[in-house]
Amino acid sequence: MSKSLQAIRGMNDILPEQTPLWRYFEGTVARLLDNYGYKQIRMPIVEFTELFKRSIGEVTDIVEKEMYTFEDRNGDSLTLRPEGTAACVRAVLEHGITGGGQVQKLWYIGPMFRHERPQKGRYRQFHQIGLEVFNLDGPDIDAELIIMTWRLWGELGIRDAVKLELNSLGTSESRGRYREALVEYLLAHHDKLDEDSQRRLKTNPLRVLDTKNADTQAVLVDAPKMADYLDDESRAHFEGLKARLDAVGIPYVLNPKLVRGLDYYSKTVFEWVTDKLGAQGTVCAGGRYDGLVEQMGGKPTPGVGFAMGIERLVLMLETLEQIPQEISRQVDVYLCAFGEEAELAGLALAERVRNELPNLRLQVNAGAGSFKSQFKKADKSGALYALILGDDEMAQQVVGFKPLRGQGEQQSIAWDALAAHLATCVVQG
Ligand code: ATP
Ligand code: MG
Repeated sequence: MSKSLQAIRGMNDILPEQTPLWRYFEGTVARLLDNYGYKQIRMPIVEFTELFKRSIGEVTDIVEKEMYTFEDRNGDSLTLRPEGTAACVRAVLEHGITGGGQVQKLWYIGPMFRHERPQKGRYRQFHQIGLEVFNLDGPDIDAELIIMTWRLWGELGIRDAVKLELNSLGTSESRGRYREALVEYLLAHHDKLDEDSQRRLKTNPLRVLDTKNADTQAVLVDAPKMADYLDDESRAHFEGLKARLDAVGIPYVLNPKLVRGLDYYSKTVFEWVTDKLGAQGTVCAGGRYDGLVEQMGGKPTPGVGFAMGIERLVLMLETLEQIPQEISRQVDVYLCAFGEEAELAGLALAERVRNELPNLRLQVNAGAGSFKSQFKKADKSGALYALILGDDEMAQQVVGFKPLRGQGEQQSIAWDALAAHLATCVVQG
């Protein structure tokens, strides 16, 4: 195929054989969020470029080198959203729904775009489910976010394969004091730092902490620790969070090097990581951003949120073979009809059954065909039962009911009794 007719590198089709698992995952998360009282919000996929520069920060990887930015026909600079928080904050401010201290517990789902090097678990169009809470400033809500994700891992059967890493970045004042101490220390060891870290030291020194370079890591062993710079308020908040995780029995690891890629975090930051996916091990990440709304022109409004990567979590379900059996079957019953008269009767009968059993997955054979070919299609569809309408059945106003998965003989069921019979033998998902 010519190059112009291929998908863009790092942007993937999700094929019909994969969508059942995606829908199962998305449905499980949506139900859980409903149950905890979160409401869905849907923002546009494109925003003014300025929004991301202002919120994410000019000297982050995303803004410096990962954004899909273009000029539209009016000459406005627009960007495909690289993450959801910025647009969510923009939306709540624009509609005034966090004013006067109103609490909002919101979630969203959809594609995000970053020009990164595509590899397993890292794509240029990827999908996130994200969540943001506004106007709650205590550790109780930070804990709720983590508890919810912990429950999710349990429901998905992947809890044993993920680990919670936790850190506090403190208030902006304590972070400022820490930054000074860190810069002073790193400047004293400037020559031993890798090039990237030397650059970051000038632009975004906290990011030096999550370097992958071994020499720089060695320098960091004796560097000042954020924990020693936390003010009383941040310290109390962090202790409050840990006490709640302990109360529910959620294990965590303190990781003083966890700083997150974005500029806007304060106090709590966390990541759920796994060693089952190779290098792209973070499946869910988030934290508190009490200064962001103000930075974007709103009144001071505490906020906390997280986002999880759907591709990575779906990969995990596949890797750990945590795919529920029922999602692979998409047809319950397959109706075969032979001859035009039977075809018409079958069509009407199928609609009657669907009226009574709206959740039944009933597929009617299309494209006619011999007994053998229709039967083959019925079997291949994965259906549990075939319904058969031929000359004999038409004469007696019955339908042949044949189990396809080995359980029992074919029987004849009267048309009027078909829906009731199906209701007893098909467990509807
Ligand atoms: P990473 O360190 O893997 O680059 P990040 O810190 O850039 O992640 P966030 O901006 O916090 O990621 O996004 C939240 C989650 O979205 C990540 O934990 C990950 O699961 C997922 N994610 C981020 N970037 C990508 C990508 N390019 N492809 C697939 N999933 C991604
Ligand atoms: Mg990244």
